[in-house]
Amino acid sequence: MDAPNPHLVARMQDHRFSVFGEMSTLARRTGAINLGQGFPDTDGPLEVLEAAITAIGEGHNQYPPDRGIASLRQAVADHQQRFYGQKVDPENVVISTGASESLAAAFLALLEQGDEVVVFEPYFDLYAAGIALAGAVRRPVTLRAPDYSFDPAELAAAVGPRTKMILLNTPHNPTGKVFDAQELAQIAQLAIDHDLLVVTDEVYEHMVYAGHQHVSLATLPGMAERTLTISSCGKTFSLTGWKVGWCHGPKDLVDAVHAVKQHLSFTSGAPFQVAITEALALGDDFYHDLTASLENKRRLISDGLSAAGFTVYPTGGTYYVTADVRSLGYSDGLAFCRSLPDLCGVVAVPTQVFYDHPEAGQSIVRFAYCKRDEVLQEAVERLAGLAH
Ligand code: PMP
Repeated sequence: MDAPNPHLVARMQDHRFSVFGEMSTLARRTGAINLGQGFPDTDGPLEVLEAAITAIGEGHNQYPPDRGIASLRQAVADHQQRFYGQKVDPENVVISTGASESLAAAFLALLEQGDEVVVFEPYFDLYAAGIALAGAVRRPVTLRAPDYSFDPAELAAAVGPRTKMILLNTPHNPTGKVFDAQELAQIAQLAIDHDLLVVTDEVYEHMVYAGHQHVSLATLPGMAERTLTISSCGKTFSLTGWKVGWCHGPKDLVDAVHAVKQHLSFTSGAPFQVAITEALALGDDFYHDLTASLENKRRLISDGLSAAGFTVYPTGGTYYVTADVRSLGYSDGLAFCRSLPDLCGVVAVPTQVFYDHPEAGQSIVRFAYCKRDEVLQEAVERLAGLAH
């Protein structure tokens, strides 16, 4: 790695580079198919795009209220009732610049220096950076392939006197795991027993496939009063560039997050907030079609990777699939991903960089399949060349 940046605070030196940046640059330079970064190659529903254009025309162009526009906060509450039967007071919803800002504000608002956060690894890289930015410490619990389950004893042992928070992401990036009812009950019980806060990142909540179910952790007994739930429009509506996210939870928790959030962006995306209000109210067909289309893509890429010689780890949700490269004769996922564009014109991301114990994911790479079928088909054909 390069020399430290002399201007950057010590706690951020390890977080200067993102593997997504490196791999996307590689994709641009080589013209490879980018199955690295998780963004769709088609835009969200036309009526939602048009709603944003109309909102601009109608003058929604100045600072919206710092907590978000009232109609969107109501729409988030309605969405929670509709999909999870959870009653959320719109007063306790805050709209943020993507889920990312809710996460950052939560870390900065809720963690004192030296507080510990229990987090499942591999983790989304923003978690490690955000926890470090707050001067807090992560305590990883390893999700182990092939099913990415965790050892409940390891989870319990991760909690100590300085633990303040459990950070959960389900459905889970990068593994595609959907935490099941038993696992969620274990996490909830631990949080209750030790009086911990829980931050739950549910941005992939609508990408869950047959045989799996997304349970919003705040709906479990004893959890609503200690859980901050975070989601966003980016994944569900294929609008990752709009960066409209939200969080909700008990009043004190949300007010604390808002106290920081107002000094980060204050507010953002007025016309997009108007449009996402409409998006959240789309009919059941939209949500059904989204899952059906992604489930088909999951089959396409998983079958293709298996045929190419990868060991594919089954997923229950998200638009990612992980695969082990050892069956292809490689041992290091990072080296493999760096050479993959030259080998066959495809980009993936190594997951070892998302662990504190990289050996658990040393040979595992992640493919994003939120791409048009013909792009996936082409990628699969290119990957097939690896087998020879
Ligand atoms: N959480 C997870 C687990 C993610 O994968 C992502 C995006 N890759 C985000 C949060 C960020 O969401 P947003 O774009 O809404 O900030």
